[in-house]
Order: sequence, then C-alpha cells, then structure tokens
Amino acid sequence: MTLQETKDWLAIAACGITTKEAWGKGICIECKEPAEPKCHTVAGRGEYRISAMCEECFDKLFEDEDED
Ligand SMILES: [Zn+2]
Repeated sequence: MTLQETKDWLAIAACGITTKEAWGKGICIECKEPAEPKCHTVAGRGEYRISAMCEECFDKLFEDEDED
C-alpha cells in the first residue's frame, strides 16, 4: 500500500470520501461543504490542495494546541 493509498483509506474511514473525491468536487473532506468560501488565506488554499481540508476545519484541528 502506498502512502497515498494509506491516506485515502484513512480519509474514507474517517470521512466517507477520499481526498481525490473531495478535490474533484471542490469540497472539504471534513465538513463536506464547498472549500473555496472557507479558505480565507493563501495558506488555507494551499492547505486544501494538500489535505483536502478547508481552512476552518484545519484550524479547528489544531486550535487546542497551545502555541504562540
Ligand atoms: Zn471544512
């Protein structure tokens, strides 16, 4: 199993869709909503291209990490 296949499998297990499907539909893999309106920054859009997760969900994922 390649790394990408592993990531796809994890994505299916967690969210029901693959990153590829999310990109194909332009939706976030986490909230299943259109990703474009939820990616507020260039970094957020870049993150979507990597993880298929919108910026809001990505931020939520890390919001409890206490870093400054
Ligand atoms: Zn989202």
